[in-house]
Amino acid sequence: MNTAKAELGAVSLEELRFENRYGKLPQAFYTRLSPTPLPEPYLVAFNPAAADLIGLARDEAARPEFTEIFCGNRLLPGFDPLAANYAGHQFGMFVPQLGDGRAILLGEAAGAQGRWDLQLKGAGLTPYSRMGDGRAVLRSTIREYLASEAMHALGIPTTRALAIVGSDQPVIRETVESAAVLTRMAKSHVRFGSFELFSSRRQHEHVRTLADHVIDQHYPQLREAEQPYLELLREVIVRTARLVAQWQAVGFCHGVMNTDNMSILGLTIDYGPYGFMEGFDWGHICNHSDDGGRYAYNMQPRVAHWNLYCLAEALLPLIEMEDAEDALRAYEGEYERRYTALMRAKFGLASEQDEDAALVQDTLKLLHQARADYTIFFRRLGAFDAAPEADNAPLRDLFQNRDAFAAWTARYRLRLAAEAGRDAERKLRMDGVNPKYVLRNHLAEAAIRKAADQRDYSEIERLMRLLAHPYDEQPAMQSYAEAAPQGTAPLSVSCSS
Ligand code: AMP
Ligand code: MG
Repeated sequence: MNTAKAELGAVSLEELRFENRYGKLPQAFYTRLSPTPLPEPYLVAFNPAAADLIGLARDEAARPEFTEIFCGNRLLPGFDPLAANYAGHQFGMFVPQLGDGRAILLGEAAGAQGRWDLQLKGAGLTPYSRMGDGRAVLRSTIREYLASEAMHALGIPTTRALAIVGSDQPVIRETVESAAVLTRMAKSHVRFGSFELFSSRRQHEHVRTLADHVIDQHYPQLREAEQPYLELLREVIVRTARLVAQWQAVGFCHGVMNTDNMSILGLTIDYGPYGFMEGFDWGHICNHSDDGGRYAYNMQPRVAHWNLYCLAEALLPLIEMEDAEDALRAYEGEYERRYTALMRAKFGLASEQDEDAALVQDTLKLLHQARADYTIFFRRLGAFDAAPEADNAPLRDLFQNRDAFAAWTARYRLRLAAEAGRDAERKLRMDGVNPKYVLRNHLAEAAIRKAADQRDYSEIERLMRLLAHPYDEQPAMQSYAEAAPQGTAPLSVSCSS
């Protein structure tokens, strides 16, 4: 546990100031309610970096009140807890009402870095719980906690995580597990599905109210535009395209890209059965409930586009169809440009050539055939020796097909010849964009096992420290950069969380 001295100006729990502007929207947007008490809660994890964002003194986490507050047992003055209502397309099927079935928005805390929604995930039943129990299990909260902070450190827009509070209360999933509450932070938790709820009910005034809310709070610069709602759509399209380009470049698979899991701010949100690509497979499906592979790795860019159509359709009460279609056409170009730029950087290419996109695709084909580890490949690529006699053994050893590797080497070497800088300079640049450490499933699993079996949270802390600096060499942590040990059964992760 990090109990470093509070930042200058940081305040106590009681001194935090809260508002809930979502709670000032019409009644149809949410249900006001209190979290369900969690029996005998204990602190599992606390993230000082997130506390800094809201100006909460770090040592406040040591107080029993912290644990009580961030599992929902105690409310601070100014909290205005509510469960938001939303709809969404799940696996392509429209579900007219979903809503926060186990998440409760406490309000916005204002800190040095703006206002942040604080949301308890796993805080008990709500009117939107349907068949669910309103709880989250320790395993899934640890997975979300680690992944969201790992993504942030990789420079990928994401929700953040403040804390995990656990309890011995049993929760039934495929097996009996224990309950936990994750405190999630975001500038907004509004989803594409929030708009779909009202448009599908033909409540056009509510669509407008929600769009105004989002613009006023998160895109104020659009207010002056001639068509603010169209500009909002354009902005979300750009952000989503860029987000997915970042996912593809780092090898992140979300797993459940339903429109209720798509953020209006272009954040990665709702970490469930996600995974970081290990042995490269175009069609990798990280969610074992996704039989058809709708959300497979290579489908993500297209699915995001499809989801943006759903958002555009929900905004049709506010914008012209032709304008929406025109805006949607910009997606592919934006995605391609961003993805190619990110991949050029991963390959260490400072100049641009038309054939670069083909080089990227053909390299990925080589990786796919060999099921070479995606992260390890790119990290080792940084040390590529362009001398003709170099064998580049660390890289070569990832491939059984030596002829294919030799042919690829010749091509890459030729491409590098068109570059100006020296090898050492290129390596420095590449190490800054090709992470050494990602949250491999087996690493998360080890932290979960220790936490669940022994109430030992040290591995969560270790991973948090490691993944806060994914691009740095951390020699003592070398084994964390390696592929899962032979014989480790590949984990398949389900939606049940
Ligand atoms: P997710 O797959 O986590 O994005 O959840 C999809 C929908 O199911 C959302 O409306 C969630 O609030 C709801 N949900 C998921 N798990 C539970 C649960 N254990 N209890 C109640 N609702 C849940
Ligand atoms: Mg969700």
